[in-house]
Amino acid sequence: MKIKKKIALVAHDERKQDMLEWVKFNVQKLCGHDLFATGTTGKILVKECALGITRLKSGPLGGDQQLGAMIANGGLDILIFFWDPLTSQPHDVDVKALLRMSVLYNVAVACNRSTADYMISSPLFDDEYQPVIKDYGRALAQSVLL
Ligand code: PGA
Repeated sequence: MKIKKKIALVAHDERKQDMLEWVKFNVQKLCGHDLFATGTTGKILVKECALGITRLKSGPLGGDQQLGAMIANGGLDILIFFWDPLTSQPHDVDVKALLRMSVLYNVAVACNRSTADYMISSPLFDDEYQPVIKDYGRALAQSVLL
């Protein structure tokens, strides 16, 4: 049985075409999952791919932070984030925070098409997967005691 994942799709402006092509190519695999996207990315994907996507705020207006909060609350399994390595972003700190949250909570992240291709081809994409979450509380307590 296919296990529904919560998947976020985010692309900076120069990477939106990449995202659109990737989503179009994988639309059959993606449509059975719960999809989220930042505002502009979501608008393009809904229009071009007729997918059901929950749209958040645009990235520079807080969309990345909304995704970070979802991760902190255990509400996201996969982040496909095609960020732009050649253009500075007004919300660079939010981008960094989102990537940090993903690593902190061991969320699967793809920042380019190759990684996204490997991820969506994995048997784990449609299967049960329980990410290991470190016990940061204990680590924090121990560092306080040292
Ligand atoms: P956008 O946001 O989808 O609203 O363009 C993406 C981002 O900049 O994080």
